[in-house]
Amino acid sequence: MKKFETTFVNQSMMRRIPFPLFLVFTWMSLVLMGCEVNQKNWTSTPQTTVAPPSSAEGNDPSSSSHTSGAKNTSTAIIPETPVETGIDSNPTPKIEPTQNYGTPSPFVWELFDPGDLWEDVEPKSYLQDACAYLQMRWDPEKSHPGTIVAPIMFHSVRKSGRQITDSTSISEEYFHAVLTHALDLGYETITSEELIAFLTKNAKIPERSMFMVLDDRRPGVTERFIPYLEKNDWTLTLGWIIEDQREYLWKQMEDLYTSGRLDVQSHGYWHRYIVEETSEEVIREELFSPIPIIEEHFGKPPIIFIWPGGNFTSQSVELAHEAGYQLAFTAYARGPLMFNWIPQAEEESKIGDPLMTLPRFWSTTAWINLEQTIAVGQEALAQALEKYPEEAAWYRANCAGELPPPPVIEPTETQTPE
Ligand SMILES: [Zn+2]
Repeated sequence: MKKFETTFVNQSMMRRIPFPLFLVFTWMSLVLMGCEVNQKNWTSTPQTTVAPPSSAEGNDPSSSSHTSGAKNTSTAIIPETPVETGIDSNPTPKIEPTQNYGTPSPFVWELFDPGDLWEDVEPKSYLQDACAYLQMRWDPEKSHPGTIVAPIMFHSVRKSGRQITDSTSISEEYFHAVLTHALDLGYETITSEELIAFLTKNAKIPERSMFMVLDDRRPGVTERFIPYLEKNDWTLTLGWIIEDQREYLWKQMEDLYTSGRLDVQSHGYWHRYIVEETSEEVIREELFSPIPIIEEHFGKPPIIFIWPGGNFTSQSVELAHEAGYQLAFTAYARGPLMFNWIPQAEEESKIGDPLMTLPRFWSTTAWINLEQTIAVGQEALAQALEKYPEEAAWYRANCAGELPPPPVIEPTETQTPE
C-alpha cells in the first residue's frame, strides 16, 4: 500500500480521482505487485536468433523452443486509467465547427499520468475519419464502448508432474485453470474474421472476448483445447508453420480441423525471424508462400499473420499488406484490444501501423491478464459514457447529423480477485 501511494498517487491526483476509481487503481496496483513477484511475463522481448521448431508434437517444449529463453521483464503494463485516444490528439475536422459548445475537441483526451505502471506503453488509434469513427462507436447495432478483447498466445502445455524449464510453457493444471477462469469470467472466443470486423468497423462481438492463438505446430496441444472448444462453442486460432510437410502431420491437422473449431492463420513458411538484415526475398517467402498451402489444406486463405518470434520491420509490415493480411500479431504483451485503441510501446509505435503490430498476452500470465482486461473495459465504458455529450456536440458541429443516443447498459457482474 505504502509503495503504491508514494509511487503513483500524489495529492493532486487524489483530487482528480473519484474514490471508486481509486479503489480500482489500488486493486490493480496490488495485483501488479503480485504479478511482478510471481509472474514475470507482462512484456516479452522477441528474440532475434533463428531456431525454427523441429517437432511436430509440440507438447515437449525442448523440441520446439524457438522462443524459450525469451527475455521476459517484470515490467507490468496496465494503465491506471484506461484512456481512449480517439483519433490521435489533433483531429482535423472536415468542416469547421459552426457553433461553440464550450467544450474541447472530444479527441483531445486528458491522458491520465500512468506512472510506473504504464511503462512506456501508450494506446494508439488508427482510424483517420473522426466522423465515421464516432458513428461506429455509438451505433447501437455495433459493439458498445468498453467491449474488449484479450489476445492470448499459447505455446507448450506440460504434462502433469513434468518440470517446466522454459518461459513459454505452462503446466497442464494451469492450462485447465486458465480456461476455466475465462469461462467463469464470462469470456467468449472470437474468430479472425470477427476480430478484423471488430477492430476495423466495431462489429458486434461479445463484450468480453478472447482471441486465443496457439503458435507453431502443436497438434498435441490443439487436442487438449478441443473439448473446451466443443463444449463452449469456442474457436482456437492456430499460428501455423508450413515447413514441416510430412503427410501424417497434415492429415492429423485436417482431421482436427473437421471439428469446425479451428481457425488456421499464418506463422510463416520456415518460421524465420524477420529483422532489419533479412532480405526481401526471405520476407516474401515467409509472408506469401504459406497462403496457397493453407488454403489448399483448410479451404481458406489466411488473413492474419503471426510474426515468427514476434519480430517485424517496416518493410515486412508493408509486404504483409501487399500479401493481403489484414492484421498481424507480435509477441509483446502490452494490454488488451479495443475498437480504435491498441496499446503499444516504442518498438511497435515507430512502425506506425497498430493493426499490423498487435500485442498478445502470454499464456503464463493469462489468469491475471483476463481479470485486468475486464477492469480496463469497464473503465473505458465509464469514460466513454462520460464523454458522450462532448462527442455528440462535436459530431453535430463537424459531421452530418446526430450521433445515436448512448446505449443503456446493464451493469455486468464482475468477479474480482480474492
Ligand atoms: Zn513461433
